[in-house]
Amino acid sequence: MAKINLLDRSVFELIAAGEVIERPASVIKELVENSIDAGAKHITVEIKDGGSSFMRVTDDGCGISHDEIPTAFLRHATSKVKTADDLDKILTLGFRGEALASVAAVARVEVLTKEAGTEYGSSFKINGGEITEHEHTGCPDGTTIIIRDLFYNVPARQKFLKRDVTEGNQVQGLIDKLALAHPDISFRFIRDNKPVRHTGGDGDYYSAIYAVFGKQFAMSLIPVDYSMNGVTVTGYTSSPLFTRPNRSMQYFFVNGRYVRSVICLTALEEGYRNSIMTGKFPACVLNITINPELCDVNVSPSKTEVRFADEKNIFDLINFGIKNAILNADNRRELKLEKKPVQNTIVEQTEEKPLSVRVEKALEAVPQDKYKEKIQKTLEDDRIYKVKEKPVIFHSPVSNIQPKKMEKSFVQQRIEEKTEINPVHIPEKKKESIEAEPVPEKEQYIAPVPEEKTDNTFKYISGSALQKTETVITEEPEKPSIKVIGELFATYILCQCGEEFIMIDKHAAHERINFEKKKTELMTSSQLLAESEYIDLSPEQYSVLSENTDKLMDAGIEVILTDGFRCEITACPSAFAGENVRPSDIVIPCAELLCSGNDNIIGEIYDDLLHSRACKVSIKANDLNSREELRVIAEEVWNNEKIRFCPHGRPVMIKMTKQEIEKYFSRIV
Ligand code: ADP
Ligand code: MG
Repeated sequence: MAKINLLDRSVFELIAAGEVIERPASVIKELVENSIDAGAKHITVEIKDGGSSFMRVTDDGCGISHDEIPTAFLRHATSKVKTADDLDKILTLGFRGEALASVAAVARVEVLTKEAGTEYGSSFKINGGEITEHEHTGCPDGTTIIIRDLFYNVPARQKFLKRDVTEGNQVQGLIDKLALAHPDISFRFIRDNKPVRHTGGDGDYYSAIYAVFGKQFAMSLIPVDYSMNGVTVTGYTSSPLFTRPNRSMQYFFVNGRYVRSVICLTALEEGYRNSIMTGKFPACVLNITINPELCDVNVSPSKTEVRFADEKNIFDLINFGIKNAILNADNRRELKLEKKPVQNTIVEQTEEKPLSVRVEKALEAVPQDKYKEKIQKTLEDDRIYKVKEKPVIFHSPVSNIQPKKMEKSFVQQRIEEKTEINPVHIPEKKKESIEAEPVPEKEQYIAPVPEEKTDNTFKYISGSALQKTETVITEEPEKPSIKVIGELFATYILCQCGEEFIMIDKHAAHERINFEKKKTELMTSSQLLAESEYIDLSPEQYSVLSENTDKLMDAGIEVILTDGFRCEITACPSAFAGENVRPSDIVIPCAELLCSGNDNIIGEIYDDLLHSRACKVSIKANDLNSREELRVIAEEVWNNEKIRFCPHGRPVMIKMTKQEIEKYFSRIV
């Protein structure tokens, strides 16, 4: 047996340092966290060559007294934990008194620090753990720590450093997260002499996001504020209209500390299910506030994993928080007309002037008035989306063609036509309201309805599809009813609703209506098959199905598993009956899903099937539809908050207020 040696202190220090300091970003993380702990309101981080040759962190925090500087660089030296009673702080906040000692062991370190109210500051130098200078000097309040030549004495570690640009990006990513987590601190980041970040430090979450990710990202956000069982999620998430090609912009914090969590990511995407296109991803900056005892944020310096005591609650919190945010932000897109100087003739105005769309959701979404102002300004400046080269004209040019006064109001026409309409089911209540409804004089001047060539039959919508599903309609008595005033390009239903003009994409809307209808059916019914279908399973599929028969039952599937890995399918959701979907088309993917450890059958398998079913049976752009068909779709869209995006995430409707139209025509200023 070889002789046991006690490791030399310098060797031991290097090993210990390796656990805390892996790369420039880990040094910056420790130094900036110290600055935050010191109460700094302004923190400047500067790096050169990805941080490997030079890093400097300057703060305006409390400073370190002259005599205590050497102690701060001793291992297990901390001012933040005194007794064993404070031990939970070590676990929850990560104070270990190791950072400065570790950095000093593997780099050349220089400190300039001064406590407020003292006459002099101090200059202190320590190289590879050896103090080389400790003197009084003149310097501003606060602390500056300079780190040179990281790992100069540990070549093995130096080899593991990536290219400067990669290390620099790591630092930049870290600064972004710290700045987002601490909106009350102003962060500056200078990289190879170039300032790349500067946050205001005014305490507002939104302005921190704005400063870090820029205007475009900030504009796409809607606020999230949701609580469940004592846990809260707050922050911002992207509107379903602004998706990203990957998950890179999904930021989660737990009690202000950046974390990575599969639960949070999955719940976020579940929240957006059916609101954004498949293959697209949301962005978010969300903070979960939770009793620290109910989660375990791994505070080891290089790790960011988190574990929650009640994962289900966190999943539901984020999932419902997101769904709620999307709903609250009222995702109807608004059509805004670009303000034009007064034109000489109406023809010029109506025919060739470009029309712009401005999405103002971010504005509606932002709570503070000051930011509303800021965003309003930005919207005015450049948040204008050109729809087309040519304007979209919703009305006939009116220069020499006088607005055609309709002989009969649309409602009157409907009353006359309704006897011919077949086989639409108009509920009794509705009939009464149509007949009883007085026609206001002004409605007679609404845009002329283009003549339609319809055959007045319901080729594309089955009778039952036209009947509203009671369960999904939110009755709001005071809400004005929607009236169809025409159709554009055989694709968009034009509607008037009180003082608003609404344009609905008929395919997108019908697709979503069918999707929701089928989904409701799915939740409620399973149908015994006239003839069972038999399939052979792999041993793995067989065992997951036998362990999850309850999950299958919840999803409306009943199976009997017999010897030889055979499976008899006896019942399936009635929503798929007559849809050319074989029971095995459902059960085999379910088995595969369960094998992969995912039991979200409805979300993963049914949604996909429903998407394609809904698309196939829905009316298409350029289809000819009767006005009654269009009316049914418009009413469903108007009354059902769920119908805002098609199952692939395209918006279903946009709107424009009377006031906006009047502004455009300079009737009002
Ligand atoms: P810890 O942060 O766990 O206490 P560190 O090694 O990071 O351990 O820091 C040691 C001590 O040095 C801190 O407890 C603090 O008292 C002091 N210190 C470090 N950085 C600063 C700073 N920027 N401003 C004021 N004090 C600091
Ligand atoms: Mg520290």
